[in-house]
Amino acid sequence: MVKNKVILITGAASGIGLRVGEEFAKKGNKVVFTDVNKEKLQDVEEWLKSKQFEGMTVYCDVTNEDELVRAIDTTTNQYGRLDVLINNAGIQHVSPIEDFPTEQFERMTKIMLVAPFVAIKHAFPIMKKQEHGRIINMASINGLVGFAGKSAYNSAKHGVIGLTKVAALEGADHGVTVNAICPGYVDTPLVRNQLEDLARTRNVSLESVIEEVIYPLVPQKRLLDVQEIADYMMFLASDQAKGITGQATVIDGGYTAQ
Ligand code: NAD
Repeated sequence: MVKNKVILITGAASGIGLRVGEEFAKKGNKVVFTDVNKEKLQDVEEWLKSKQFEGMTVYCDVTNEDELVRAIDTTTNQYGRLDVLINNAGIQHVSPIEDFPTEQFERMTKIMLVAPFVAIKHAFPIMKKQEHGRIINMASINGLVGFAGKSAYNSAKHGVIGLTKVAALEGADHGVTVNAICPGYVDTPLVRNQLEDLARTRNVSLESVIEEVIYPLVPQKRLLDVQEIADYMMFLASDQAKGITGQATVIDGGYTAQ
C-alpha cells in the first residue's frame, strides 16, 4: 500500500486522474492535483478541505514548460519531495489525416508526449537524488494499435511508450521506475462525450451506442471503470512493483487480444 507519499498528477480534475488522486488522498498521501480546468480544480479543492485531506490543487497547462516546472517546485517546496509523478493529461480529436488541422496535431502531441518528457526532465533530478521515484505515463491501446481518425492521439500514445522505455533505463540505477498504462475504453467524460455525440448524430440512446460501438470491439462487452485503472496505478506506485519498469501494461477488457 502507498502511504505518506507525495504525488503529482496532471489532468487531475476529471476522469482517471481525478479518481486516482482521490484514492491516493484517501490512503493518507499528499496529492497535488494539477489541471487547466479552473472550475473543476475548485471542486477538488473543496473536496480536499471537506475531507480534511492533505494535498492541494495547482493550475497547470502542461503545454507550458514554466507552469509544469512551477507545479513541481510548488510540490517540493510544500512537501519536501516528489515520490510519484503521473503524466495523465490528455485530449481527443478524431478526423481523417487530410482534414486534421496541423495545429491540433501539434497541440495534442504537446499535451500527451512533449509534456510527459518535460515533466520527467524536471522530476528526474529530484527523484534520483531521493533514490526513489515512480513515474506513470498515461498511454492507451492507441499506443499499441492504430485507429483510423486518431493520427495525433495514436502518435502521441505510441511516442509516450517509447519515452517510458528510455526513461526507465535512465532511472533504473537510481530507484526510479517508469511505466506506461494502456487502457481500453474507460467510462470517463472523454469517452462519454464522444459516445453522446454519436448518439445525438444517430438519434439513438447512449445505451444503444455503447452496445453497437463498444461491445463489438471489447470482448468483455463493457466500458472499464476508472477505479480499475486507479487501482493498477496505485499498485505501480507501491513497493511491491519496484521491479516493474519500462513496461506498458494493457487494461482493455480483451480489445488487443483479438
Ligand atoms: P478526462 O477528459 O476526463 O480528463 C482529462 C483531463 O486532462 C481533464 O481534466 C482536462 O482538463 C485535462 N487536460 C486537458 N488538457 C490539458 C492541458 N493542456 N494541461 C493540463 N490538463 C489538461 O479524460 P480521461 O479519460 O480521464 O483521460 C485521462 C488520460 O487517460 C488521457 O491521457 C487519455 O488519453 C487517457 N486514456 C483514456 C482512456 C479512456 O477510455 N477514457 C483510454 C485510454 C487512455
